[in-house]
Amino acid sequence: MHEFSVVSALLDLVTEDARKHKATGVTTITVKVGVMSGIEPELFEEAFHVCKRGTVAETAALELIRQPIEISCPCGYQGGIEGFSFRCPKCGETTIRVSDGEDMILQRLELELPD
Ligand SMILES: [Zn+2]
Repeated sequence: MHEFSVVSALLDLVTEDARKHKATGVTTITVKVGVMSGIEPELFEEAFHVCKRGTVAETAALELIRQPIEISCPCGYQGGIEGFSFRCPKCGETTIRVSDGEDMILQRLELELPD
């Protein structure tokens, strides 16, 4: 399952960050998942609960934010599109740039720090 490798890469990142800050644990991990990232949130959550065991993030809660597709158009439009038609809803242009919704990003990490 694709999600397992994504989650394990994410946990590597979290572990590294926790170590850098000398954290004793991780409270919340907030991840932004683009609708075009190819990641199924349900599978991602499942994989997370399996993979976090034995890591610094063992007791961490996972927060998933679904990021819709956003585009930027030469006409100046920036924002969402209608459905999966890749054209600017304002001017109809099809040579647009997808600016969000394609990837998975570790957006926020809440660490437990020693006093
Ligand atoms: Zn446009």
